[in-house]
Amino acid sequence: MKQYCILILSIFITGNLAFSQDTLHQYKINYYNQKVIKYLDREKQLSNFYKIDKEGVKVYASPIDKLKDSVEFKIKWQQFAEFNKCLRSGKDATYFASKKHSQLSCDQKSESTQQPAYSHLKKLSGLKIAIDPGHVAGDFEMGKTEMKFLSFKKDSVNGLPDSIQIAEGMLTFATATLLKEKLEADGATVFLTRKQNGYTAFGKTFDQWLKDDYKNKVEELFKAGKLSTEKKNQMLSSQYDKRKKFLLFKDIELAKRADLINEFDPDFTVIIHFNVDETNLGWKKPGNKNYNMTFIGGAFMPGDLSSREKRFEFLRMIVSNDIEESIQLSGAVTSQFESVLKVKTAGPNDAKYLREGCLSTPQKGVYCRNLQLTRYIHGPLVYGETLYQDNINECKALNKESDKTKNERIKEVAEAYYKGIWDYITTKNVN
Ligand SMILES: [Zn+2]
Repeated sequence: MKQYCILILSIFITGNLAFSQDTLHQYKINYYNQKVIKYLDREKQLSNFYKIDKEGVKVYASPIDKLKDSVEFKIKWQQFAEFNKCLRSGKDATYFASKKHSQLSCDQKSESTQQPAYSHLKKLSGLKIAIDPGHVAGDFEMGKTEMKFLSFKKDSVNGLPDSIQIAEGMLTFATATLLKEKLEADGATVFLTRKQNGYTAFGKTFDQWLKDDYKNKVEELFKAGKLSTEKKNQMLSSQYDKRKKFLLFKDIELAKRADLINEFDPDFTVIIHFNVDETNLGWKKPGNKNYNMTFIGGAFMPGDLSSREKRFEFLRMIVSNDIEESIQLSGAVTSQFESVLKVKTAGPNDAKYLREGCLSTPQKGVYCRNLQLTRYIHGPLVYGETLYQDNINECKALNKESDKTKNERIKEVAEAYYKGIWDYITTKNVN
């Protein structure tokens, strides 16, 4: 009788355990499938590249591989914590691909890479924050080379008492400098991808990079089979346009920014940009529109999973909490953009790229967008696009002061980021 009771009891317990395990798996399967649909798969055409089932999350190099169940990456449910640890210790796509059928095992990089105990933070000590001031121009000429500038002639009829000359790279660098000062005063360790006004992430100006590194880079691409002999010779000829050289540099330098940030391994990253009205094309005169918005990773398009590195970032965004945390951080920052700057938050129909290239999130003004930096920077991030520089009032305000760190509007933008960051940290405090 006793044995019978034990048998019944064990069937009851194990049956129950199996049931609860299944329920838990089902909950996770639903959650992560929904996450991909809501934030990662912009056109709902990527289902042939991944599978989320009772084993965990699998990513395939092609739809044919999925049919054959030949995985490129596989992270089991019980490996999620180890996946995040490995990610923070700098493991890349090659490592995870090699571990698809075995255990993940990584050492924490250092003590300081532990998740900070936000609940004990009165100030920001122990917190590592990366800031990326967008673009590189330190003067108007460089702004023209990277085509991130505004030049309006004096036009008293339309309300411009002075001519306007603005290079976005100068505005972002000044904002980053002011924000860095504020965060450091609260005890945070802050890393800037560009160390001086006009510097690139290579620690030198673009002109200096052209002198030191351009030729080697072209030779390197040629040796890697990415350029034909004809193209190489064309690129090395003295006739080759500076703007075209910049376009080669641009992607290489963005990759460098992501590498520097991931090496620094911050708790979160702030990417600073200023926007313009896309419909004011040519930007010959000021306009009336003005909005704030922020971007985070996600919204992959068909064709965006063409390399192992890209598919790995897709996997990372599924498995890690980077998307969820970025929504919180960006939501807090966007909300402060509106209150401090008195500029409206953009809705999904306020710009073509929001309508056609992004996915909305539950936070107003926060959009998933698959940009080079939102894709390759790991950890929570906010990619800020504050105000329209070509707005009639904004261009007048931003034109003031040659040292942009003394510009009152820039000070307000830095303050908005700062307050948003504090709101995000305070929210984590409460939770
Ligand atoms: Zn920009």
